[in-house]
Amino acid sequence: MTKQLLKVVLIGDGGVGKTSLRNQFIHKRFTNAYKATIGADFITKEIELGDGKRVSLQIWDTAGQERFQSLGIAFYRGADACILCYDVTNYLTFEHLAKWRREFLNQAGIGDSNPDFPFVLLGNKIDIDERVVSRRQARGFAREHSILTGAKTEMPCFEASAKDGIHVEDAFIYIAKTVRIP
Ligand code: GDP
Ligand code: MG
Repeated sequence: MTKQLLKVVLIGDGGVGKTSLRNQFIHKRFTNAYKATIGADFITKEIELGDGKRVSLQIWDTAGQERFQSLGIAFYRGADACILCYDVTNYLTFEHLAKWRREFLNQAGIGDSNPDFPFVLLGNKIDIDERVVSRRQARGFAREHSILTGAKTEMPCFEASAKDGIHVEDAFIYIAKTVRIP
């Protein structure tokens, strides 16, 4: 059996909870402390899909440099899936997704060549009551994206709380189940 390894990148504005989402998914833990590490890094997690099938997700996270500089080509190159993260309580982070998507496509060298590149939308911090981005708006973005690119399948939309550990796995499991290396 060939074992699949998928490179998954987490992108989106600083502060939306990318590092917290990954920590919660990998370690089932949430810490409030903001820890800046040096350089981008990845953690690999193996996922059992049932009937003996396994997929390893190599999940890339930034070291916080998205706040002031480009993430660099090495971060994006060879990505098999991209999770576009925003904060449901911060509209600007949602507005910036189009920019992040473009940046990803340019830097990863995908451009317009693959309209079906697997993007996943992930709104975080649903534990906070003051939500300003609705599910409807998220689906609107996904629909716009598929119309714009001519993608066959619409970008799936997930919402989670890294703090409470709610629905954090969904986006990752979706990728493990659906993304196949050609
Ligand atoms: P990143 O810059 O995108 O990696 O975001 P971080 O993971 O560092 O999180 C930024 C801040 O948001 C931190 O203070 C986290 O504790 C907080 N945070 C992250 N996820 C959640 C969440 O689901 N709910 C709440 N209430 N706070 C969160
Ligand atoms: Mg971070």
